[in-house]
Amino acid sequence: MKANSFRAEFFMAVLMLALVFQLSRQAAAIVAASAAVLSPSQQTLSAPPQKPVVVLDSGHGGFDPGKIAVDGTLEKDINLRIARLVRQYLEASDVEVVMTRDSDTALSGSSDTNKKTADMRNRCQLINDASPDLVVSIHQNSYHEEYVKGAQVFYYKSSENGKRLAEILQKRFDYVSGDENTRAAKANDSYYLLLHVKSPIVIVECGFLSNRSEAALLNTEEYQDRVAWTIHMGIMEYLNSRETHS
Ligand SMILES: [Zn+2]
Repeated sequence: MKANSFRAEFFMAVLMLALVFQLSRQAAAIVAASAAVLSPSQQTLSAPPQKPVVVLDSGHGGFDPGKIAVDGTLEKDINLRIARLVRQYLEASDVEVVMTRDSDTALSGSSDTNKKTADMRNRCQLINDASPDLVVSIHQNSYHEEYVKGAQVFYYKSSENGKRLAEILQKRFDYVSGDENTRAAKANDSYYLLLHVKSPIVIVECGFLSNRSEAALLNTEEYQDRVAWTIHMGIMEYLNSRETHS
């Protein structure tokens, strides 16, 4: 009897252990399944976002008006209006857009002694933190001779991708203002943004605020929209043709 009872207890113990083992396996499977469904980090790891990221930099802002047009319009305001329109077009094309500013503010702090330096440094920091596929910095030009006009795109002299983006954009500005624009994309090795931003970057000078007719055009919503559409089309052409380039 004693031996039988011992065997029965031993058998029960083994059975219980097997049951516990099986239950814990099921529990582990359930936990793993919930984690796969619920954990956003696991989701992100297995399916990284495919949207390209573009930074739009509206030149100047706040204390810094940029160039002042012959009609008194401030460059910073035109830059922002065009940047907002470009953002709309890009977002409609499924591109993620980061703006360096979306209001009339500089990127410097109240305690900064050199506001312009702080503004540029913070702009670069913001852009590099976003590590975008490309950056377009939007500006308006000015010159001491009134007849000079037309959009021009600048890139960092040793950036192949910057050059390609600049040439695509420049070509699209050939007939935007109605007159033929014969300007070519231009290399530069001294602009702060071109020197300090790591992603491919171009500076688009959309037109000359020192030219009366171009300043008047740049001040209309219709022309701002045409310029924005042109920039957006150039960005999309660059993004869509990347695979065929190294
Ligand atoms: Zn400017």
